[in-house]
Amino acid sequence: MGRGLPIRRRLPSGLSSRREDGTLKGHGYAKTAIDIACWDLLGQSTRLPLCVLLGGRFGGAADAYHEVTLGTPREMATRITTYRAQGYRRFQLKVGGDADEDVARIRATSAKAGRGAVLIADANGGWRMQDAARVVRAVHALDVYIEQPCPTYDECLAIRRRTDRPFILDESIDSLAALLRAHRDGAMDAINIKLSKFGGLTRARQIRDLCVEFGIPVNIDETGGGDVTAAVLAHLAHSTPERNRLAVAWSFLQVRPRTASGAPRLKDGGISAPTGPDLGIRVREDVLGDPILDFA
Ligand SMILES: [Mg+2]
Repeated sequence: MGRGLPIRRRLPSGLSSRREDGTLKGHGYAKTAIDIACWDLLGQSTRLPLCVLLGGRFGGAADAYHEVTLGTPREMATRITTYRAQGYRRFQLKVGGDADEDVARIRATSAKAGRGAVLIADANGGWRMQDAARVVRAVHALDVYIEQPCPTYDECLAIRRRTDRPFILDESIDSLAALLRAHRDGAMDAINIKLSKFGGLTRARQIRDLCVEFGIPVNIDETGGGDVTAAVLAHLAHSTPERNRLAVAWSFLQVRPRTASGAPRLKDGGISAPTGPDLGIRVREDVLGDPILDFA
């Protein structure tokens, strides 16, 4: 990230990635920022881009998905038409409310998504079992992915066994153990990787690498952030072989104020990792303000 962080505090001796949960369990959101900073420091010391350190730069730009926020079926269909004209071919619909309205939303947007599009109906675990059962039956003839229909893994698995639509798990895959169990159960066709679910890039990369080994496509995502998050996601996506990529989130590039210069840019619906060393961006410390913690 260009200029290194000030050094004021020593890490406990013997602290390693395998022992981090031994010191403090959970708090993945907080650990993610520190973990990303460590990868950036590794990039600074080796003068290599993060995507190279994460496995290599594979192929061209990663397809970005455009979120389609909740609205009436007509509004959501109009948004898809607009986004498609801007070059997008990956769309994630927000659903998870009233089952009948959600069926209408999926039908209306599916009609506008067009050839070669990937349409994902993401319920964020918002459907009850009976809602999810009705929706997947009603959309069985449409080319749509179903993402995390219900809150729990067991509910999702039961719905998975009642539909032949491609299936994505997100909130239920929050650890390596969860991924292994879901793979054994044949519980999904793809997963959504959010760094902070796993406590950072180190474990997200482990999950991604295992998915590559299993042939499971991944959606590279995060719950919040700005330019720094966008750069990290671009590196993780670009270091994922193309056949294993579903899409990468791009909305963080729209967050204001801008917190870094050199952040990846969106072009023709795709995002490429920066080519410079480390994260390939320069954080704007004038925008971020003084650090709240310094480590050595
Ligand atoms: Mg999701």
